[in-house]
Amino acid sequence: MQDYKIFIDDLKSKVDIVEVIGSFLPLRKSGKNYLSLCPFHQEKTPSFVVNREKNLYHCFGCGKGGTVFNFIMDFEKLSFNESVQLLARRYGITLPSFSPNVNKRDALYKVNTAVAQVFHEYLKKSNDTLGVRQYLSQRKINENSINTFLLGYSPSEAFLSRAYTKLGFSKEELQNLGLLTNRNGKVDDTFKDRLIFPIFDISGRISGFAGRSLNEKIGPKYLNIGENMLFRKSKLLYGFYQGKKSITNTQSIILVEGYFDVISMHQKGFNQVVGLMGTGLTYEHIDILNKWVKEMIIMFDNDEGGLNATWRALELLRETDINVKVGVYHTKDPDELSQKYSKEEINNCLLNSLQTIEYIWNRLLHQSDLSSIEGKSSFIKRVINYLIRNANLAMVADIIKRTADKTLVKEDILYAEIERQREKKHAPFQKTIENTIKPVNKNNLLNQVESYLAGALVKDGELFFSSSEGLTPEEITNPDLKQIFEKSFKYMGTEGILYIQPDDVDILFTVEELPIISGLLLSDSIELNGDIIKSMVRKLRMMKIQEDIEILKREIKTLKKSSDYLLTRNYIVKLSNLISYIKELQG
Ligand SMILES: [Zn+2]
Repeated sequence: MQDYKIFIDDLKSKVDIVEVIGSFLPLRKSGKNYLSLCPFHQEKTPSFVVNREKNLYHCFGCGKGGTVFNFIMDFEKLSFNESVQLLARRYGITLPSFSPNVNKRDALYKVNTAVAQVFHEYLKKSNDTLGVRQYLSQRKINENSINTFLLGYSPSEAFLSRAYTKLGFSKEELQNLGLLTNRNGKVDDTFKDRLIFPIFDISGRISGFAGRSLNEKIGPKYLNIGENMLFRKSKLLYGFYQGKKSITNTQSIILVEGYFDVISMHQKGFNQVVGLMGTGLTYEHIDILNKWVKEMIIMFDNDEGGLNATWRALELLRETDINVKVGVYHTKDPDELSQKYSKEEINNCLLNSLQTIEYIWNRLLHQSDLSSIEGKSSFIKRVINYLIRNANLAMVADIIKRTADKTLVKEDILYAEIERQREKKHAPFQKTIENTIKPVNKNNLLNQVESYLAGALVKDGELFFSSSEGLTPEEITNPDLKQIFEKSFKYMGTEGILYIQPDDVDILFTVEELPIISGLLLSDSIELNGDIIKSMVRKLRMMKIQEDIEILKREIKTLKKSSDYLLTRNYIVKLSNLISYIKELQG
């Protein structure tokens, strides 16, 4: 573990935070800081600050901040360790072997990349692939897409299995990656006469491959390599890496079924389109989507399979905060859609996507026979079953109106039925409402005072200790700031250091505390001045006494009713003591 810390320190000393963040965002120099529009929230004037000297960044709009590792974690949605790995790779620093798996995985990724390149070159350069290229141009896939998605071709005769040594791969690695298969007791290529789609993970590494058969007689039409150390279908979204910029900008995604759907839609300019790889949507996919998007449109194929998959996906997505819609279009699949219609037409089609509840209502209607009483009441029952889980009043009202129109059952009766069903299932509905009500922060002023004091403490400990009139961490009420006080007190006390050294920031504070620290250290509004510190300490103490006074007053009021005169007197004495203490502080 100690080695890991040393390694991280070393890495941090080699990494320039301005250069790293500058490679993701345009930075403008302003005094000793660099500014940018924040990538984590929408804004028109920049509140995102990077400071080279302190090795920190902070957004004063949304509060994200910390070291270069926090930035990579937030921007690329990675864990701390993954961010460390990414930066190490980028700066060409070899990761020491803390875990044998890290090195093994890295080696396997390298093999995948090299194999993808081999297939790609084969497609582009070999004379055997004229037919394949013709097939691609028939499907209107252009050169740019072939390069962006690194499409390739695996020939019909044994290729990898014959030439792996010549190509520089080991048999074992290719087997581990699922690129070689045992056929009739003989090691053979997994993909034969197939168009190859390398599958990139979110950070651009190639996790695996899918191949489309180009020979009618060789099934299945699409074949994925088997699940292995790198390839987990349930976590991968095809085209995400290529569309990441657009997904980040729009915070939205369009989910389709197939590889060609993704490529054609990207080609048409819809880069936020991603595809599933022959699996349904999983909870792991939803975890990823939750981090990246606020809105998604499901656009599965227009066939029975696609309809069922949509239904299942909507069921799974019920608990998320993502605004889920379903795209309605009239071609076989999004691939055909993008070939038959203009960008504007597709855009209009996307704008007309249905909200989940509308989509479900349409489907239920389609499935029901409203000419019979049974059909009608079963339709109403199923609609209401969906409505009771929906807290969007406008949406519920709209659906009730439509249902009333179709069934000729009065709206009042439908509402009454919703209420009845809700009472039955009281708990889940109640939960939705409670979750949407955020606690109001009553202690805003107190928080500002404590934040100022914490800022003064970490920026200039010497000044702080000479002016803070013996303020202790116990006096701080905000638990996060209290923690920062405790750590800083300990650090400055034991090391005899007078302010927080940039190099020690991420050793001292946790990943969760760093955004607060970066805000304190990079804020210009914390003016360092002994008199201000002194008056803030007094203000803090006074606010707390005033709170105590309020509590005492309430106690006295209730005690009066119980006629416990002795105790009441006792409290009144306490109260007058507090009041004179306040006067002393003010004086
Ligand atoms: Zn921000």
